Amino acid sequence: MPKLPDEFAEEMKQLLAKDYPIYEQLTSQEAFRGISLNRLKADNVNILPFETEKCPFYKDGYYISCDEKGIGNTPLHHAGAFYVQEPSAMSAVTLLDVRKGDKILDLCAAPGGKSAQIASCLANTGLLWSNEVVKNRSQILLSNFERMGISKAVVSSCHPDILCKKLQGYFDRVLVDAPCSGEGMFRKNPDAIREWSREHVLSCAERQLSILNSAAHAVKNGGTLVYSTCTFSYEENEGVIKRFLSQNPDFEMCGISEHFGRKTELPCAVRITPVENGEGHFAARLRKKGESPSETFRKTIKNDIPKELEDIFYEIPEGNYTVINDKLYIMPEDIPDLKGLGVIRAGIFAGEFIKNRFEPSHALFMSAKPEHIRRVLALDDDKIKEFLHGMETDSDCSNGYTAVTYKGIITGFGKTSNGRLKNKYPKGLRSK
Ligand code: SAM
Repeated sequence: MPKLPDEFAEEMKQLLAKDYPIYEQLTSQEAFRGISLNRLKADNVNILPFETEKCPFYKDGYYISCDEKGIGNTPLHHAGAFYVQEPSAMSAVTLLDVRKGDKILDLCAAPGGKSAQIASCLANTGLLWSNEVVKNRSQILLSNFERMGISKAVVSSCHPDILCKKLQGYFDRVLVDAPCSGEGMFRKNPDAIREWSREHVLSCAERQLSILNSAAHAVKNGGTLVYSTCTFSYEENEGVIKRFLSQNPDFEMCGISEHFGRKTELPCAVRITPVENGEGHFAARLRKKGESPSETFRKTIKNDIPKELEDIFYEIPEGNYTVINDKLYIMPEDIPDLKGLGVIRAGIFAGEFIKNRFEPSHALFMSAKPEHIRRVLALDDDKIKEFLHGMETDSDCSNGYTAVTYKGIITGFGKTSNGRLKNKYPKGLRSK
């Protein structure tokens, strides 16, 4: 690792006091790595093909060894059973305190680690709206959503101010995981050290305050706003929160009782450094004052349902079925007007009408549970690897669209025809 900038080292000495020598010593060691379990697809960490150790920052968060290689190419990663995520980064969603049925906005969401946690906690209830202002990063977000089988969600690429003003008071909880100077990434990404400067820290703080001010609009009365960064600096963390509260008297600090990280001067915030066994994160929880208005529910609209879905599912998935340009989407119920919000996907892309037939999508199967599907083909260790390479395989299912499972988790699909499964695993996702 390159030498720490002197000015940064001075600030860390002030922040960590007697713990600074421990931090300094840790800078020459390897970074912490972790995974979060995706409960939409898996409910037991013991099925994973590597050692895990529980981490304190999130109920379904685990450390994994630095030596573990090729995790992103394991069948259970393709299946969406877990997300590779730095352990301390999981703390922000713990502070968000997700409850089933909540409407949640993840405003700076790509590549999607925290959104994956939120979706796992929501367990197919409520709504997750994940936004990423940088267009090409929002595509990575979408592809992670499909892998993780997240269906009750909207993915957008919109400027935070436009999005949050249009969705005024709509969300129970809003997460702002802001772009930052990345001081907590120094071990993982030495470029962050070279790019560090005092001016960069201060300009990040201005941008963070502006994003947080936008986010404030989208929180409903009585709702929660969580702010997080992967940096240590006072200006980007406590400084931003204090300035935000002075500009937004309708928000207040929300005390935290979570038992991890180091205390900060704010009762609503926690900081995790390598001394506390995470790479580096800061998270603060705020509350918008007032009472939340009572809920209004809209009815499910079920039109445009192709008959082919009845051949795939015992019971077809819930949602609003909508056809746009011959493509079928199953949208979450009760979503606001999407116009002008840069929406890339609402719900799941279920498939396409081609001439007179309906071709289901990979995302449709990835978001389903095996017990809801009529034809399921379970593959072993060798056969799943062949499947992920795009090869055909034997199938003992009847003719028709068939879910492929590995260790009980849907990993893709194919079409059975006379004892053979034609592979439908998307070409762009296949193992090399
Ligand atoms: N929450 C993500 C996760 O868990 O995978 C990581 C988010 S990352 C720390 C911050 C994100 O904010 C980046 O994807 C970046 O493109 C985005 N961003 C950059 N400038 C922004 C701005 N002005 N407003 C909102 N988001 C911005």
